Amino acid sequence: MDYEEMLDKGREEVPEDVSGGERFEIPEAETQKDGSKTILRNFGALADRFNRDREHLSKYLLGELGTSGHVEGNELVLNGSFRRGKINGKLEDYTERYVICSECGRPDTKLEKEKGVELLKCEACGARTPLED
Ligand SMILES: [Zn+2]
Repeated sequence: MDYEEMLDKGREEVPEDVSGGERFEIPEAETQKDGSKTILRNFGALADRFNRDREHLSKYLLGELGTSGHVEGNELVLNGSFRRGKINGKLEDYTERYVICSECGRPDTKLEKEKGVELLKCEACGARTPLED
């Protein structure tokens, strides 16, 4: 087998990526207990990674966890004790719903409002997906 054939063979063996993009890596939550509170220490970095407003992400997390809290610098302070695994699960849900394009699977998206409807607009493939409440 010559080099060209090897390359062809290699190409054939690479499975087609139907989603058309690499999987978006969700950063792990870094949490710290502080008395009756839980501090999400890398909250700011997470919001930046998702390219979303801190307010949008904090509202979602507080709503999903059913608690109150506030943003303090780059941290999100949650009232109550929450396991890191639970917070990671919510972060996954958030990216699936508000960050990843359901058409092409890429995270290059923006939230837009059109006629009062919130849309997830993909900058990679142009898909516009309405978000339901
Ligand atoms: Zn897309």
